[in-house]
Amino acid sequence: MPPKIRFNAPRLIGKELSYVAEACKERLSGDGRFTKQCHTWLERRTGTNRALLTHSCTAALEMAALLLDIAPGDEIIMPSYTFVSTANAFVLRGGIPVFVDIREDTLNLDERQVEAAITSRTRAIVPVHYASVACEMDAIMEIARRHELAVVEDAAQALGATYKGRALGSIGTLGAYSFHETKNIIAGEGGALLVNDGALAIRAEIIREKGTDRSRFFRGEVDKYTWQEVGSSFLPSEILAAFLWAQLEEAETINTRRLRLWENYHAGLADLEAQGRLRRPIVPIDCTHNGHIYYVLLADAQQRQDVLAAFAKDGIQATYHYVPLHSSPGGKRYGRANSDLPVTDRSWERLVRLPLSPGLSTSDQQQVLDALRAAL
Ligand SMILES: *Cc1c(COP(=O)(O)O)cnc(C)c1O
Repeated sequence: MPPKIRFNAPRLIGKELSYVAEACKERLSGDGRFTKQCHTWLERRTGTNRALLTHSCTAALEMAALLLDIAPGDEIIMPSYTFVSTANAFVLRGGIPVFVDIREDTLNLDERQVEAAITSRTRAIVPVHYASVACEMDAIMEIARRHELAVVEDAAQALGATYKGRALGSIGTLGAYSFHETKNIIAGEGGALLVNDGALAIRAEIIREKGTDRSRFFRGEVDKYTWQEVGSSFLPSEILAAFLWAQLEEAETINTRRLRLWENYHAGLADLEAQGRLRRPIVPIDCTHNGHIYYVLLADAQQRQDVLAAFAKDGIQATYHYVPLHSSPGGKRYGRANSDLPVTDRSWERLVRLPLSPGLSTSDQQQVLDALRAAL
């Protein structure tokens, strides 16, 4: 039986299909009108030097590893509490993920532990903005400057969120967004690379276009395009960009709706937190988020299992997040933890993500709150 209340119910916002129809008449392959509109929108909204659509956030992270010339043995500092792509993108180039613990409050990379993980092989730091709440970017950027390291923001979840007024993804050397159907702004699959360091912009275009200078050729800057360096095909088709453009036009509406649901959960669970029955998400004062995830931290793994079972019985689809990479077979094979990761180990197994997507009605949301209360 399908769940009564789905964890994520992706929705079209309005013009997706008509824009896709337009793209089908005008141009199917990438970098047409819709892609350019998405690029300009992202550049204006984030203040980045160059935004480039990709076919996923994974692809954007792979482009980042290529752009930074990650070579075998290079070390990349990142949280263990993240999605596999954060690590895989660098492992594909022979890089070694070095896992650092997360903060108790935001579950983000603990900037106070980054410096201890730096060695002569360290090349980059990859902060992941979990649930679209920013990492402590000032401290991370300062460490990176001091040690001459690149910073790649995994901002997969964070379009529209800010840190001290700056768009997440636009602060580091590079940033990556996702438009996967589980994120706020969707295209089924899709992503973008933000090239904040302008010195990398031309090479980013080349790497994305099979290692050729085709983008410059289209702009009339060279009279033919040729193979310049290593690259691959990272760009999405116009069909996808057209779909995405309809979503970006309504990004404000989509994020506002999610934020309202997020705030409802937050208010509805205040008393349970006050009674010490669970912990709600913490959003530091310098951060605005986009309502991407609402999670609660329960007492222990057993209680989480009980709550998930109770939800399932009521037809409510809730879920956990991220088996930490350092404890996974791939993480052990390709990476290493810099130390014990006690906060990671005891956070992920207590975490439940509640259903949250624009299609969730307020009455469904009330059912989730009632079910959680009953289960506790
Ligand atoms: C979703 C996600 C990704 C991967 O995004 P895709 O577009 O599916 O490749 C990477 N990192 C984080 C933190 C994510 O949440």
